[in-house]
Amino acid sequence: MLNIVIFGPPGAGKGTQSQLIIGRYRLTHLSTGDILRNEIANETPLGTEAKKIIEKGELVSDDIVIGMVKNKIEGSIDGNGFIFDGFPRTTEQAEALDKLLEEKGTAISAMISLDVEETELVKRLLKRAEDQGRTDDNIDVIKNRIKVYNEVTSHVCNYYSKKGKYSPVDGTGSIEEIFDRISAVIDGLGKKRSCCG
Ligand code: ADP
Repeated sequence: MLNIVIFGPPGAGKGTQSQLIIGRYRLTHLSTGDILRNEIANETPLGTEAKKIIEKGELVSDDIVIGMVKNKIEGSIDGNGFIFDGFPRTTEQAEALDKLLEEKGTAISAMISLDVEETELVKRLLKRAEDQGRTDDNIDVIKNRIKVYNEVTSHVCNYYSKKGKYSPVDGTGSIEEIFDRISAVIDGLGKKRSCCG
């Protein structure tokens, strides 16, 4: 299986690039943000709880998101692999993901981290607010999401770096240019696998 973590701050383009990666590599998309927004739309108890947290730009608890990911992995384990988008966001989530995949006899192949400067992130998120009207895309919440990313989530890079799985990619330029850089990383993994067994 090919299991990719697509990583980066809010507005880095994880969702956009995930769609292109799924198209080329036939992976199952697992976006914790999408699952949470779906719970909110369906007005489930989990959704009602998550809404308050998301609208402040804070992180939903590890237990909740790990439970959601576990369910999704168990339901889709027969495919080519997964693209994890917006997860893991804490080291605890990264450790839990490794355990879940190990139980299924598989592992993360690479963590692709999209590097984008903060001024560009804010610009993109404010533009998305106009286009899509997401309730967490307003300037105060955006600032807090970026702060939470810098203080908590960015450490997840170290976790994968220690395992030799961290691949930073320049997240600026056209959507196609960025996708070419990502594809080069993924295709490189395939080569390593086939020549070294
Ligand atoms: P973005 O990357 O643009 O912030 P997401 O759709 O990935 O957007 O996430 C939206 C919000 O959902 C986050 O700000 C957070 O509150 C919550 N969320 C999503 N994934 C996680 C996660 N893995 N752990 C904790 N909270 C999460």
